[in-house]
Amino acid sequence: MFRKILIANRGEIACRVIRTAKRLGIATVAVYSDADATARHVAMADEAVHIGAAPVRESYLLAERIIAAAKLTGAEAIHPGYGFLSENAGFARTCAAAGIVFIGPPPAAIEAMGLKGAAKALMEKAKVPVVPGYHGDDQAPDLLAKEAERIGYPVLIKAVAGGGGKGMRRVDVAKDFMAALEGARREAANAFGDDKVLLEKYLVKPRHIEIQVFADSHGDAVHLFERDCSVQRRHQKVLEEAPAPGMPEEMRAAMGGAAVAAAKAIGYVGAGTVEFIADVSDGLRADRFYFMEMNTRLQVEHPVTEMITGQDLVEWQLRVAAGDRLPLTQDDLVIDGHAVEARVYAEDPVKNFLPSVGTLVRLRAPAENAHVRVDTGVREGDAVTPYYDPMIAKLIIWDRDRPAALRRMRQALAEYQIAGVTTNTAFLMALAGHPAFGAGDLDTGFIERFRADLIPQPEPASVTVLALAALAITLDRRALAAEQAARGGDRWSPWAAVNGWRMNDAGADDLHFRDRDTDLHCRVEYLADGSVRLFGLESTVVAGGTLEPDGSLDAVLDGRRLRAGIVRQDGEIIVLLPGQTHRLVLVDPRQAGEEDEGGSGQLNAPMPGKIVQVLVEEGAKVEKGQPLMILEAMKMEHTIAAPGSGIVAKIGFRAGDQVPEGATLLSLEDEE
Ligand code: ADP
Repeated sequence: MFRKILIANRGEIACRVIRTAKRLGIATVAVYSDADATARHVAMADEAVHIGAAPVRESYLLAERIIAAAKLTGAEAIHPGYGFLSENAGFARTCAAAGIVFIGPPPAAIEAMGLKGAAKALMEKAKVPVVPGYHGDDQAPDLLAKEAERIGYPVLIKAVAGGGGKGMRRVDVAKDFMAALEGARREAANAFGDDKVLLEKYLVKPRHIEIQVFADSHGDAVHLFERDCSVQRRHQKVLEEAPAPGMPEEMRAAMGGAAVAAAKAIGYVGAGTVEFIADVSDGLRADRFYFMEMNTRLQVEHPVTEMITGQDLVEWQLRVAAGDRLPLTQDDLVIDGHAVEARVYAEDPVKNFLPSVGTLVRLRAPAENAHVRVDTGVREGDAVTPYYDPMIAKLIIWDRDRPAALRRMRQALAEYQIAGVTTNTAFLMALAGHPAFGAGDLDTGFIERFRADLIPQPEPASVTVLALAALAITLDRRALAAEQAARGGDRWSPWAAVNGWRMNDAGADDLHFRDRDTDLHCRVEYLADGSVRLFGLESTVVAGGTLEPDGSLDAVLDGRRLRAGIVRQDGEIIVLLPGQTHRLVLVDPRQAGEEDEGGSGQLNAPMPGKIVQVLVEEGAKVEKGQPLMILEAMKMEHTIAAPGSGIVAKIGFRAGDQVPEGATLLSLEDEE
């Protein structure tokens, strides 16, 4: 076995590989770009080597830099993860030439599956069923049209060099064929520099079912059953599960056998996935599945296979790459229970799944246990950048059967608390809870068909959300008052009366929220027992509870207990409830309308907190945007920056001081 490996990847998959390496006592080397200097995978590895700038072409795709990093650190093997260089035969060859083991298949096997047409021809020869179609070299348009007629409409035109759905056209009737062919060719030439196409029968109700295979360098190969990845949007997998719902044993055996035959036909070694498309217009049938492509690497969704087989596929990869035999035979492998994986993404389902970048100011995942596994590459405080895939985590659930796994999946998704970026967790919850999904009525058109049920519609903040926000603010202020009183040692100070924060003589306080375009005013009346009565909402609410420094709010609203997460950031308060996130702007009456164009004026604390650092001295000349102070509030650091250039006239606090919301932190004067 290797003593040390390098992981030529980032994010969750790099962390995933490191986890197994650590368990096996193998030292790990991470590589990282400028954007990933403090990333989780770097922190987890024993060593890390910087390989370039944030864009992948300037770092993670640079084979020479990665080989150099392996040599520098003495790594004996490179795990490519998925994506990046994982299916690059040239990189696999470069590794071999440098005397480093590429943890993946032989370069020739990668190439054999690289072109769709050639791969299909190879599969036909190996007696693996392929979609009825045409994948010949003769590309004369008339011949192609005749072939389309023979196959029978609808047909699918695909670029042989294709990927990511590019150069693909569905044609329903003969008269549209020529125009579609021209379009597919043009797109393929642009995208891949190769305008060759193949034709396939278009399956009207397809399910995406893939088989995990494993082969060793001694000529043995096994399959580890199937995964169903039919729930896709724009050909991107969203939810994956194993085993496939409703899979007949006979079909499983046929598919597993075909996948092993495919791997053997190309001299495969290591982990691979053979993707099939099943025609389910008459249900799942052992004679209605067809080879689509083989991915010659570990896949994103491999954990569901691990959960139902009890195997660690990364360990298998390492052992096979080190020359060992496969750890188990086909007969040793059995399916236990059901596993589902959901891809938690920083994206906005309402805005057509637009990626959402930003800092993960709050990231609380469900606790891991025998049923719940979280594979992630980020921690609270990390950023989701525009450079890489905005996946936050894979949430993998195992249970005895599918209904139990789906129930637990919804529960675990509800436990997620994420703020700072928009996420798809509510969408995933709707998906996992959808009756048609529960019934196993799957095909690749599922999300489109049930779009209206699945895309969460933004709703105005409920009275519960507003009450929780108001309660959190009052608890926050009260905690600060108590702390100040304790520090001041003045027991008779009005601040010491912490059972009722009195901002004015009436023992009441006014809060002004903005919920998107709606202004909401809430009057807070402080009650003797420490709770508050909230007026101005849809109904009057009596609220009490505790707010932990980590932002966990334990509330009692009119006698009903509930738990929420609270995040305060840049004048906003975010209320996190199971499966829901509400952002409210807290309008500060003292700051309303006060807009300082120049650098002069006072800088106030945007929220109560503690001064962590003072970065300037009185009399210092500062530039616009220069950080002046760091304030810590709700476990987050906020930088107080100069609104314009000027001179620091007065600093009101020192590092370590607690400040109330709105306190004047420092003042600036114009340069004379
Ligand atoms: P790419 O490599 O461009 O992603 P694939 O061949 O993997 O293309 O196909 C992508 C997706 O297109 C599949 O997951 C499936 O949803 C759909 N698809 C592919 N072939 C067919 C077909 N013959 N009939 C219906 N849908 C298909």
